[in-house]
Amino acid sequence: MPPSRQVKDYIRTIVDFPHEGIFFRDVTTLFSDPRGFRMAIDQMLHPYAGERIDKVVGLEARGFILGGAIAHQLSVGFVPIRKKGKLPGPTISQDYKLEYGEAVVEIHDDAIRPGEKVLIVDDLLATGGTCAAAIKLIERLKGDIVSCAFVVDLPDLGGRKVLEAMGMDVHTLCT
Ligand code: IMP
Repeated sequence: MPPSRQVKDYIRTIVDFPHEGIFFRDVTTLFSDPRGFRMAIDQMLHPYAGERIDKVVGLEARGFILGGAIAHQLSVGFVPIRKKGKLPGPTISQDYKLEYGEAVVEIHDDAIRPGEKVLIVDDLLATGGTCAAAIKLIERLKGDIVSCAFVVDLPDLGGRKVLEAMGMDVHTLCT
């Protein structure tokens, strides 16, 4: 029997995207494969079996695909965190640093109630800047973050350390 495929085996690398010198980890090949997608969702959920989670927060854009499936599996609500100007209702905003410049993410100001248990979901953890901004937004709404779950960790970029220094539990499927 050939060895069974792992989550990592479904992810492809696109060289020089979006800029020269970048190795972009492309999870669309994981999402488009029925076994790969199911495996990823099951493995992302596994550590939280039996834990209380009230809301799944997904980070734009691939965190919406993962987060929607995870929220459905948990029978809880899904909340998007989006780039500035995309959410229609009243929002709160948080800026964060990019390699060159700054970005802003937003959440609807009524999307999480104080004390709700929140699971944050995204496809990939690099520097941790995006997720750190999401954590600040959720904490401003007084949500209680259970964990941050990603498919891919790029450990050389230090995101896990950044999030753990903020007191977060971090769960990743592959490096
Ligand atoms: P960070 O804020 O530096 O941790 O970057 C993580 C964010 O950038 C996530 O929302 C990812 O979707 C996105 N990202 C950065 N690099 C990649 C990549 O190689 N593949 C897919 N997404 C990436």
